[in-house]
Amino acid sequence: MITLQGKGVSAGIARGRLSFLERTSLSVEKRPIENADEEIERFNAARRTAANQLDALSETMMDKIGEENALLFEIHRMILEDTDFCDPVIEIIKTENVCAEYAVNTAGSRLAQEFADIDDDYMKARAIDMYDVSKRVIEILSGNEQTLDRHDGQVILAADDFTPSETAQLDREKVLALVSRQGAANSHTAIFARTMGIPAIISFGEFLSGDLSGKQAILDGETGALYVDPEPEIIRELEEKAERQRREKESLEKGRGKPTLTGSGRPMKLFANIGSVSDADAALAGDAEGVGLFRSEFLYLGRDSYPDEDSQYESYRKVLEKMGERQVVIRTLDIGADKQAGYFRLPEEENPAMGMRAIRICLTRPDLFKTQLRAIYRASAHGNAAIMFPMICSVDELRRAKEMAKEAREELAAKNIPFSADVPVGIMIETPAAAIISDLLAKESDFFSIGTNDLTQYTLAVDRQNDSISSFCDTHHEAILRLIRLSCENAHKAGLWCGICGSLGADIGLTKTFVDMGLDELSVEPSYILKLRALIAEC
Ligand code: PEP
Ligand code: MG
Repeated sequence: MITLQGKGVSAGIARGRLSFLERTSLSVEKRPIENADEEIERFNAARRTAANQLDALSETMMDKIGEENALLFEIHRMILEDTDFCDPVIEIIKTENVCAEYAVNTAGSRLAQEFADIDDDYMKARAIDMYDVSKRVIEILSGNEQTLDRHDGQVILAADDFTPSETAQLDREKVLALVSRQGAANSHTAIFARTMGIPAIISFGEFLSGDLSGKQAILDGETGALYVDPEPEIIRELEEKAERQRREKESLEKGRGKPTLTGSGRPMKLFANIGSVSDADAALAGDAEGVGLFRSEFLYLGRDSYPDEDSQYESYRKVLEKMGERQVVIRTLDIGADKQAGYFRLPEEENPAMGMRAIRICLTRPDLFKTQLRAIYRASAHGNAAIMFPMICSVDELRRAKEMAKEAREELAAKNIPFSADVPVGIMIETPAAAIISDLLAKESDFFSIGTNDLTQYTLAVDRQNDSISSFCDTHHEAILRLIRLSCENAHKAGLWCGICGSLGADIGLTKTFVDMGLDELSVEPSYILKLRALIAEC
């Protein structure tokens, strides 16, 4: 038996024959050409064919991967039109007198590399999209279009990496699971695999050798382990795990649509954390009673200029409409520290986590902040919205942020633009300062949501980005629990609700503690909701 360890990105257990997707190499030789204009026309014709293919794909994939995910193919179509992609291709054809295949491969690889070099996981994951588009155009140019369905029977499909288009087009009946040498957890490949319920493990590196093709294997997409020629003991263990999971899922499903009640009958709310419009579908599928944290920074990341008020409004409105009467807590911009966008031109800092980030940026750049606030208020006319400020440390910051929210409302009112008159305004408790003065903050806030990820970082002085000190990060540290208890007590004294939206909310080792503390809400990844509902009922 050979055991390989990768990074699990889509949970599930699968057993079958490994089949390597050996792609015949694309025709990317550097062929000289006679007539550059004709070659450019050949490139443009291939772009038109690619655009037609992408239109058809986005149409047919709607049901399989959902409307929002299918939008990826529209993004690919936009790349085809983008001058950042087309101009260098044309330039290479003209100046080097070489074939379009070579020019597309060269320009596409350079752009993909630029994405891969950006210090941001989201942007890194876009490199594969760039590769996907170039590959499509090269295949059209060379008449060498490849599909994934060249294997017989059901297999665990292995490759260097899978492009998002390939993953979306997989035949679920034939592909039991995906394993790859490379890949990124945030890539659309991983997102599609999760949406389609295909177990997937990435980042095996060269250990996932082509010699393993045809061998029997079993994998666990949760732990990221792949066993080739598995011993009977491992097969039994994983098959039992799969059966346990199936039974547990069946039993948890009984809680779907039911209210969340503690053992003593006290109502609690289980909300979802989301980071994009399409995540609202996952929140609903997970049976969330609302959205407790909508990380709005996704609107600002992965682009080269500020999103305008209208586009932000559209995104917030879509989420609010999808969630209907359920509350959606929109957290205002939390950029900086680990979430960087170049066009903000944030200063280089020694300690970005303690630097210019989140509410500090918003208070320093009122135009930017008020654009977002107006967009949220406009969207509030379409659902049950709440606003939440991140990284609050003082009453003064909260007052200034609320003042800007008031100005945003006044600006809309002056133009007769409708918005809801009663949008609750709350804060994240994610600094020890906020927890310690939570009695004062409670007087000026409508609710508290505890951001335990940052609260832990700042309380224990452990950089959440630094893996090498993770052993010093005791998330159950008494100091953190005391700050949570204090915040919750002060919220209740002032008649506010208090929830948790950091990762600790989903820590089942603390569920009873949180119930006993009297927390009113836990906002978690949607897949935890049914499990927590069952657990809370036992507390
Ligand atoms: C937190 O800090 O706990 C939180 C929810 O915010 P983020 O993880 O986005 O910083
Ligand atoms: Mg935070």
